[in-house]
Amino acid sequence: MATKREPVEQKRARAVEIITRLDGAMPEAKIELDYRNPLELVVAVALSAQTTDKRVNLVTPALFARFPTAADYAQATTAEVEGYIKTVGLFRNKSKNLVKLGQVLTERHGGEVPTSRAELAELPGVGNKTAGVVTIHLGAEHAFPVDTHILRLSKRLGLSTKSDPDDVESDLRRVFPEELWFKAHQLIIWHGRRCCDAQRPECHRCVVADLCPKKGVKKKKKP
Ligand code: SF4
Repeated sequence: MATKREPVEQKRARAVEIITRLDGAMPEAKIELDYRNPLELVVAVALSAQTTDKRVNLVTPALFARFPTAADYAQATTAEVEGYIKTVGLFRNKSKNLVKLGQVLTERHGGEVPTSRAELAELPGVGNKTAGVVTIHLGAEHAFPVDTHILRLSKRLGLSTKSDPDDVESDLRRVFPEELWFKAHQLIIWHGRRCCDAQRPECHRCVVADLCPKKGVKKKKKP
């Protein structure tokens, strides 16, 4: 069990044990967005901001069929793209960004998706987190992008006390060995979705409960 002054070596060992146990319990953990190539990946991850992966997966088959290349997005109108993604949160902004994304990819990258996080993060509608998710799934760079689940679980598991995703990523990079970053990223998200829910964490069936300083945590009710 972690304490406030947990020595760093102890925290590292605990972190590795957490991932070993999660891996044993959920060996199938992987990204839940459907995609077949780098363009579909970057589009799907960009669409998933503030929307569930399930909802994204419902709209992407028709979207990907209509816009198979970056040039197809570049030549589209925002209104047409909106028609394909209107059930996704923030669809107006996301539609604009997809058209711009197509334009930037065709004008600056020969229609291809760059693989480095730095170049990805400069694309329209692609922030640092999305760029990190894309680059690790393309196998281009090691990174530990922090989404809402990783942010929440990092705090509960006592792996970071920070609130800014970039700061949390820095902490996680120090705590986990680099070869575990990709696996840990996927497993922590799965655990957050399936057990350590934001409102109702199911600590009674959590495989890492004895390693978690927040075991039994309850979301405070609003006054
Ligand atoms: S013990 Fe509870 S709070 Fe801790 S990781 Fe498990 S489900 Fe989350």
